[in-house]
Amino acid sequence: SSHLTKPSLISFSRLSSTMSAPKLKDPSLFKQNVCYVNGEWVPSSSGKTFSVHDPATSSLIGTCPEFSAKDASTAITHAAAAFESFRHLTGRERSKLLRKWYDLMVENAEDLATLITWENGKPLADAKGEVTYAANFFEWFSEEAPRIYGDTIPSSIPGNRVFTIKEPVGVCGLITPWNFPAAMITRKIGPALAVGCSVVVKAPGETPFTPLALAELADRAGIPKGVVNIITAHENTAEVGEELTTNPTVRKISFTGSTNVGKLLMKQCSGTLKKLSLELGGNAPFIVFDDADVDLAVAGAIASKFRSSGQTCVCANRIFVQRGIYDEFSTKFAEKVKAFKVGNGFGEGITHGPLIHDRAISKVDEHVRDAERKGAKVVLGGHKLPDLGGNFYQPTVLTGMTTDMAMAHEETFGPVAGLFPFDTEEEVVRIANESPVGLAGYFFSRDLERVNRVAEHLEVGMVGVNTGLISDPAAPFGGVKESGFGREGSLYGVGEYQITKMITHGGM
Ligand code: NAD
Repeated sequence: SSHLTKPSLISFSRLSSTMSAPKLKDPSLFKQNVCYVNGEWVPSSSGKTFSVHDPATSSLIGTCPEFSAKDASTAITHAAAAFESFRHLTGRERSKLLRKWYDLMVENAEDLATLITWENGKPLADAKGEVTYAANFFEWFSEEAPRIYGDTIPSSIPGNRVFTIKEPVGVCGLITPWNFPAAMITRKIGPALAVGCSVVVKAPGETPFTPLALAELADRAGIPKGVVNIITAHENTAEVGEELTTNPTVRKISFTGSTNVGKLLMKQCSGTLKKLSLELGGNAPFIVFDDADVDLAVAGAIASKFRSSGQTCVCANRIFVQRGIYDEFSTKFAEKVKAFKVGNGFGEGITHGPLIHDRAISKVDEHVRDAERKGAKVVLGGHKLPDLGGNFYQPTVLTGMTTDMAMAHEETFGPVAGLFPFDTEEEVVRIANESPVGLAGYFFSRDLERVNRVAEHLEVGMVGVNTGLISDPAAPFGGVKESGFGREGSLYGVGEYQITKMITHGGM
């Protein structure tokens, strides 16, 4: 694959710095300096705001309220008041509200996608895909809302009857990251509302405008005031997080983000023993056995590794390729990466956007330099792209990876694919499992026995067999080990927001 060694062959778009701010069809979806609390648009009590920047151009998008712990506490109080009546709506009534919100997301899909690309950077086509995915959580859970029921259990005591009923857990604090500004929120709000909970969402400081647009659509959908509250903070993130995790009125925290913050929130929740769901970081193994369909595996690896420029928690982080097909796979894989067009997500034909901020760029570059120092070969890319005016990094392919490299142990969260050669199934499964985290894992094989064996042996919450894309509102999403616990999507996602109450009738 020597013809691929020159990174300069990649055709990078230079549109970024020349593009002007995007326009929304409905400008009232763009909410500046106000958050959504108790059905009203309110500033922070201090009047303080923070700035949000476009990762593709570094230019200012707008400003958002800097909510304090006290402001968060006010939102919690309103959510608690709203819960008292919302919990008693029928499932069908809650279903209709979620369905209306879904319809409004579909109607406003283009504007929502514009906001996502603007503040997150992902290409517009990907942002549209996210809007569909995000809206589908509302559709899915609107269909679950009328179908919530408990059990009748034969008692071991004569004359007794045992019943269970499912109750909403109460006010939920939801904290989400910037990499899916819409979907990470809808997959929590959907089940929460379906079962009758009210929520206070702390939107990510990097991408607050998409969540606030969702709040505007919640309002138009007629979601009762106080049921959905969406607040923002940047410098005050820790104090708002502390309020959400220590206020006794909040009965459940669902968090998606990094493992370190997840551990902190869990500690903070221990004082009031809140119900918890933690969707944390991963370090996904992606294994290609030499009995695989190599072209299919290449396509799967491209999708899994480079979606959102490598900034998803289920991104392939360690690509293991069996030695018999290593050269063929690496060559075909690098050919595909070479065809990427990197640039502003609004640019024509752009396939890959910027990373979220310069810290992300530094981490990616450190991983590449570390691998290079320890003997990996940079087949493609390997450098920052400062000339594009934003946080851009060349899509990068490294071969000859070994397990002493940082990429083997840490989430890279960027557009860098490291290809690790391996010899046996036993060896690769052992190495794949040598990680404190276990979110997603993928492998490609056409041997049916191996498919079953490896799927069962991988220590992860989700396995993709002969596919690189596994996210689906109908499927339970979540991890094991230090990737956290709890499941989102599917009927399993509903249970995360419920209490199973047991009722024993005596003397019957
Ligand atoms: P992060 O943990 O820094 O931030 C996530 C959210 O937590 C943000 O809203 C942030 O403002 C908030 N936060 C940070 N410190 C807080 C505190 N002390 N109290 C309360 N809230 C706090 O994560 P990130 O770097 O923004 O996101 C990327 C990480 O998220 C990656 O590790 C990725 O794997 C993970 N992720 C996991 C999933 C999943 O479903 N398992 C999905 C997407 C992303």
